[in-house]
Amino acid sequence: MPPCAGAYANHMSDDCLFCAIASGAIPSEKVLENDHLVAFRDIAPKAPTHVLVVPRLHVENVAELAATDASLLAEMAAAAQEIADRECGGEFRWIFNTGAAAGQTVFHVHGHVLGGGELGWEPA
Ligand code: IMP
Repeated sequence: MPPCAGAYANHMSDDCLFCAIASGAIPSEKVLENDHLVAFRDIAPKAPTHVLVVPRLHVENVAELAATDASLLAEMAAAAQEIADRECGGEFRWIFNTGAAAGQTVFHVHGHVLGGGELGWEPA
């Protein structure tokens, strides 16, 4: 796997899908990226806009991220808003699945940005 560009290059996990996407080792449709995070389109979109905002830092879930680097979580929120401003008139849903029972399948924290239409409320 090529080295990850940016400030968190030493915080990658070798066998993590989202570390590989963040580094560019696995291709994705990126919509935003900087030294700290990447945002790319979900491969199985659940709304007209469905983007995953992913820090380059490898931590498992949002609580771990908040405890490790709260400013990075704030940066993710700003990125989510920027994407929604561009694509959904600024209105969006931001979801962090935490744990397998909640639907988390990739154990590298990511915020789902969903929008671009009338969203129902059907978590199950
Ligand atoms: P989770 O279920 O909250 O962990 O979200 C993982 C998300 O990653 C799901 O919505 C998947 O559709 C998405 N996903 C899985 N593999 C890829 C990929 O290679 N590119 C983009 N999105 C992916």
